[in-house]
Order: sequence, then structure tokens, then C-alpha cells
Amino acid sequence: MGKIISIFNQKGGVGKTTTNINLSAYLASMGKKILTLDIDPQGNTTSGIGIEKRKLENSIYDVIMGLPAEKAIIKTKIKDLDIIPSNVELAGAEIELSTKTNREKRIKDALESIKSKYDYILIDCPPSLGLLSINALTASNSVLIPIQCEYYALEGVGHLMSTIQLVKKSLNKDIYIQGVIMSMFDGRTNLSIEVVEEVKKYFKGKVYTTIIPRNIKLAEAPSYGMPIMLYDKNSKGAEAYKKLAEEFLEYDEGDE
Ligand code: ATP
Ligand code: MG
Repeated sequence: MGKIISIFNQKGGVGKTTTNINLSAYLASMGKKILTLDIDPQGNTTSGIGIEKRKLENSIYDVIMGLPAEKAIIKTKIKDLDIIPSNVELAGAEIELSTKTNREKRIKDALESIKSKYDYILIDCPPSLGLLSINALTASNSVLIPIQCEYYALEGVGHLMSTIQLVKKSLNKDIYIQGVIMSMFDGRTNLSIEVVEEVKKYFKGKVYTTIIPRNIKLAEAPSYGMPIMLYDKNSKGAEAYKKLAEEFLEYDEGDE
């Protein structure tokens, strides 16, 4: 109960938010109780799930500053999918946090009182290795790593792994890699195929068999504030994220 998972890669634009929104939505549709936490000041998960980010009463910023987490939870239009939203207000949080006590554990402590209400809490991390991401990793049982199928796919993965190691050493000794998701795959190019092979070699056994294709519907859906499941459930992108959610559950529940 209440497993917390960070969707983490400090590289920008690799599919973290797209994965967070769509995996959360499909898991909820499969009967799991899901909370998603947007901890990116860009607020892309918030708007992509259909929440007006300029008009938030409470957000993850308030929670990090001490508001009880349950006061910031908003229901989404998908049954069993709740969100703690974010917006640009969060941009100053890293600086404010740096002078506070327990600055790496703010999110972990905040989730303590609500995590038993959910099966999974998925955290959409910002593209940085700063204090917000450290908070997410400190709070998490495990990490999902989306990797874009492109030439420099593994660039920066060393940094990503050493950040996880650092957190493991000093703040969260049990954290582990839940899985690696290959995103924006283009089957017409040899490059995509080669990148998948390379990433599989690096992460041995951790890469999901389900690969997310490049699909225009996945890019369009957020501008309508909808997960792909509502926007176009028959698209290739929808099929892929649904399969990913099934594979995720199969492995995760196999672990227990
Ligand atoms: P950031 O680091 O800025 O938070 P991110 O890792 O969260 O980025 P996304 O926002 O999910 O990445 O994706 C980057 C862009 O690529 C977005 O415009 C998104 O709509 C688009 N995109 C993501 N996945 C796909 C896909 N499989 N097919 C087509 N477009 C995609
Ligand atoms: Mg994002």
C-alpha cells in the first residue's frame, strides 16, 4: 500500500510528464487508487491532466512549506486519480528550502499521513538534480526512468545514476530502480533500434518490453487537458501506455 515512485531523469523533454499522466490514468482505470504529485514548476502534469494551473488554491509549494498534504489534493476527471498540482510558484522553493531544517525530507514527511489511501503515488520530477528532485527521491520506494530513443540517450545517465546512489547512501537506503521506459521510438530509423539495444545493455533486465512510440496524439492530448485514454483511446500512443501499465503491474506485483 502507498508505494511512492519518482519519474526521474534530469534531461529535459524525455517523456517524464507524458509517462506520468498516462501511466497514472491507466493504472487508475485498472482499479488502482492513484495520486500524482507534480513537483515541476512548469506544471505540465497539472495542466495536462486538465487543472487550471494559474488558479490553484493550494499546490505542492504550500505542502513543501508545511500545509498538510490532504489540503492540496484535487480530484481529476478520472475516477481514482487525484493530483497535488504545481505551478510557477514552486520555482522559488529550492532557494527557500535550502535554509530550512529537514530540507531533503519535506515531501517524504508530507506524504506520510496520506500514503495509505493510495496504491501508488507517482511523482513527476523537474528536469534537474536540485533539491526538489532530491526530495522526490528521498520520499520514493523506487524510480521509473524514461529515456528518449535518440542519439544522446545515455548522455547524462551517469549523473542520474550517481544522484540515485548518493540519495541511497545518505537519505534513502532502500530506493531501487523500478524500470526503464524507452520513449518516442521511431520504428523507421535504425537509430531508435540501436538506442534501445544500448540502453538494454546498460540497464540489464530493467527495461520494459513495451516501448512508447512517437505518436502525435500523445503530444496533442495535453493541450486538451486530457490523458490519452480520454483523448484518443485507439491511438498507437494509447495502446502503448495501456500495455505499459499492464506490464508495470505484472512486474511490480510479481516483486511482492
Ligand atoms: P521536461 O523535462 O521539460 O519536464 P519531460 O521529460 O516531462 O520534459 P514530456 O513533457 O513528457 O517530457 O515530453 C516532451 C515533449 O514531447 C512534449 O511536448 C510531449 O507532448 C512530447 N512527447 C512526449 N512523448 C511523446 C511521444 N511518445 N510521441 C510524441 N510526442 C511526445
Ligand atoms: Mg515534464
